[in-house]
Amino acid sequence: MSLLHRIEHPDDALNWHGDMPTEGRYTAGIAGERFFREIKEKGQFLATVCLDCDITYMPPRLYCEECFSHLDEWVEVGSWGHVHTFTVVHRDLDNEPLSEPRILAFVTLDDADGGLVHYLDEIEPEDVYLGMRVEAVFRAEDERQGSISDIEYFRPV
Ligand SMILES: [Zn+2]
Repeated sequence: MSLLHRIEHPDDALNWHGDMPTEGRYTAGIAGERFFREIKEKGQFLATVCLDCDITYMPPRLYCEECFSHLDEWVEVGSWGHVHTFTVVHRDLDNEPLSEPRILAFVTLDDADGGLVHYLDEIEPEDVYLGMRVEAVFRAEDERQGSISDIEYFRPV
């Protein structure tokens, strides 16, 4: 095969079949670690602010997506918001049926631009509506592990 030969089928290229063992480690990043540490230790949300663009990033970012400024202004934001959109799930990530349906929602927070995708609970799926006021329910302090699961769910207020 010359350099100018055009590959028209995947099997024409050098390839092998089989498994490739890989290992990886993912981190939440600098902003994500501070965000999750705040939830774990204090049960509250932190966001970053771009004062030039008047944007409060939640979850926090280290750089403004509009002006690319480095963000070092951190603010505490409340855990109240409203349902921006939602869906009802009947199967888990392994496609196994759930014992009862769960509600997943994108919740926009009152004090920030942006929000979180998380479970809604303490309400039946047919009673959820767009714009519904909700608040975060955090796990007990000794159960928190510094992850998104430290928020147990959002509930109506
Ligand atoms: Zn900005």
